[in-house]
Amino acid sequence: MDYRVGSGFDLHRLKAGRPFVLGCVRIDWPEGPYGHSDGDPLAHALADALLGGAGLGDIGEHFPDSDPAWKDCPGDRIVSLAAEKTRNAGWEPVNVDATVVLERPKLKPYKEAVRGRVAELLGVPPDRVAIKAKTNEGFDGVGRGECVAVWVTVLLARAG
Ligand code: MG
Repeated sequence: MDYRVGSGFDLHRLKAGRPFVLGCVRIDWPEGPYGHSDGDPLAHALADALLGGAGLGDIGEHFPDSDPAWKDCPGDRIVSLAAEKTRNAGWEPVNVDATVVLERPKLKPYKEAVRGRVAELLGVPPDRVAIKAKTNEGFDGVGRGECVAVWVTVLLARAG
């Protein structure tokens, strides 16, 4: 079998009044990730992991923030397009493992929804997607609740 591993990271500052979209799921919270697009850090890290694993470069090359086409672009569109580019390059996603680091809100009530949404976008069963959440124990900007960081690992297998 022919496999590739992709890894992705993203961090976004949290701002009052911004919608909190994480893994293409809207979270009920008075502040949210700030960014040129919708700022969904899980979607961006996932797109980077897919593109990286397929040897296609990074999210900035495919969806440059200098291009108005990507302003306020929803994370689910970026993930779908990255998955399509990955498949067109001959690679199928096998599983996804994501770690979200933020102080608040608690993600427990949303983890299953995020898992289902990510699985749906990638066309894999939900048991191939793991969404893990943790805090930064009060350290640095993440620990002070100023930003949210996400790490994603994805396994790709040669299609067909
Ligand atoms: Mg981002």
